[in-house]
Amino acid sequence: MNQITPQPGIMDIALYQGGQSHVDGVAEVIKLSSNENPFGPGPKAIEAVLESAATLHRYPSTDHASLRSAIAERHGLDADRIICGVGSDEVLQFVAQAYAGPGDEVIYTEHGFSMYPIIARMVGATPVMVPERDRRVDVDNILAAVTGQTRIVFVTNPGNPTSTMISADELGRLAQGLPTDCLMVLDGAYAEFVDGFDGGAGLVDQFSNVIMTRTFSKVYGLGGMRVGWGYAAKEIIDVLNRVRQPFNLSLTALSAAEAAVRDEEYLRFCQSENARLRVWLSDELAKIGVASDASCTNFILARFENRTEAEACDEYLKTQGLIVRRVAGYNLPNALRITVGDENACRRVVAAITTFKRGVV
Ligand SMILES: *Cc1c(COP(=O)(O)O)cnc(C)c1O
Repeated sequence: MNQITPQPGIMDIALYQGGQSHVDGVAEVIKLSSNENPFGPGPKAIEAVLESAATLHRYPSTDHASLRSAIAERHGLDADRIICGVGSDEVLQFVAQAYAGPGDEVIYTEHGFSMYPIIARMVGATPVMVPERDRRVDVDNILAAVTGQTRIVFVTNPGNPTSTMISADELGRLAQGLPTDCLMVLDGAYAEFVDGFDGGAGLVDQFSNVIMTRTFSKVYGLGGMRVGWGYAAKEIIDVLNRVRQPFNLSLTALSAAEAAVRDEEYLRFCQSENARLRVWLSDELAKIGVASDASCTNFILARFENRTEAEACDEYLKTQGLIVRRVAGYNLPNALRITVGDENACRRVVAAITTFKRGVV
């Protein structure tokens, strides 16, 4: 008797764990576990969502032309070299689906996003993990791990959950050093939190094997809407569009994202509040012996003495209605990732960790 059998690699996938959003017995929680925008979606995005309701009997655009040109305008890019996906996760999946398969290797880094090995396994490829150095992506380690089978290298810059970033020079050195038949994917999910950073768009223009991905889930506060995009050479975008479903983005998602990307005022507000509060949060925690690297993102990676202390602190924070993220699964067992919330949330986190550190609990 023949059995139905999934493709190789599928059963090796460990399901993605999202950030927790409730605590048993605690009614009012502040969720700081998924790097969401504490101020929510912008007013213009909300308005666009409501307006879209009246035309929901219509199929959405298949080419996303209107959203792509809004993105292109905002970032000074070529709209023909942009592809939109159901979150940037879907764009990452298109890349793997189109360019890797059984026998191929996909490189990701030690503290890299857990979706990378999942996506590699989805297409039957072999994920290869490369060590970082002091919570930073190490270009030499990546180059040393490249083999004739390497098809894709995933790098998050700035990194999640590390919050650190590597310089434009280092990124350029990586692009230069990779074989021309190996794609370099620059995941810029947090690029908007770095003043003046182009997310790697300049490298895309320079190297035909570099792809940049971006998302509406973080600074734009639209994680629930699921919109992301990628920017690459026209040839690559043509390939990726072939594995994309024609109606992957709903009418509502397209409208919300376009309104959000055109709302520069709200973007500036979210960026400046985040920049102010992440420094405050990190400085206050440093005063009580909880170190973190200077954050280039909308979260900090708070380091504790050891795993036991980090887990005990996490348990205590939960009792206070504060949900942060354990990152032992990212090989950072001594740390907790804390999203920069609004001022009230940041103050509550500092107060709770101070109480915890005093050993009163
Ligand atoms: C949040 C995040 C994304 C964005 O995923 P979406 O699918 O766009 O919501 C991508 N990469 C990293 C590293 C992230 O942290």
